[in-house]
Amino acid sequence: MRTFLSSILFLVVLSVCVSAQSSRVNGEKYLSFLFDEQPVFDTLQQVAAEAIVAEETWRSWKTVNNFAFGKDRGQLPMIADLQGLHPFFRDRILLLIRNCRAKGIELAIVESYRTHTKQSEYFRMGRQYTRSAGGKSKHQYGLAIDVVPLRDSVAVWDDAGLWRKVGVEGEKLGLRWGGRWRSPYDPAHFEWTGGITTAELSKGFFPPIPVAYATSYPCIDEDLKQLREHWVAWEKYHQELVTKPSNATATAVSASSQ
Ligand SMILES: [Zn+2]
Repeated sequence: MRTFLSSILFLVVLSVCVSAQSSRVNGEKYLSFLFDEQPVFDTLQQVAAEAIVAEETWRSWKTVNNFAFGKDRGQLPMIADLQGLHPFFRDRILLLIRNCRAKGIELAIVESYRTHTKQSEYFRMGRQYTRSAGGKSKHQYGLAIDVVPLRDSVAVWDDAGLWRKVGVEGEKLGLRWGGRWRSPYDPAHFEWTGGITTAELSKGFFPPIPVAYATSYPCIDEDLKQLREHWVAWEKYHQELVTKPSNATATAVSASSQ
């Protein structure tokens, strides 16, 4: 009997963890979870199958090219995918996008997770891009994002009033907004540190999920472990594309993501 109950308990825990992981596969599914609709999983097998797909999700992370939003952002592609973010921070950003949309403001994602190589590129490009060398930006820990409001599908970088509306929405969600900074003024930037320092982040620590939300992230340690693996896999894959231009297939993929 005890063995039977243990088996049931194991299946329930497995189901919860796999559900949480599969939420990364499909942002819309996660949105429905966030907005009080029940996620639909027909069977445990379906959930398990989706979890297997989740192993490779980094391959389909959206990227954007330089000048896609009208500004020089360097030669290396930018990851502009919410799946590359810390799960709690990702969900804050989903809410930011939804809340801004409710006020008639459409946001585009310019950059989410940032590799060490990309951060170093910005550092070389000058102080107007970043003051942080490789390893020192919150973007490199999935805890920062750059967005831009769109008007008629065109990025609007220079409307201070519009930025303020977006910034206030982010601050209502507990995010730190770069529009409050003097040097550099960075209204596109939102981050969440949960009170821990960059030094602690660089040692491998992540901020704890706020108590009020903890039950929504039952497998956060496992999720973060997998996220780290995805960051490493993404950077390794793209690094190889850059360093092996003679490979015909790699060159074609590289051209589409530069
Ligand atoms: Zn930023």
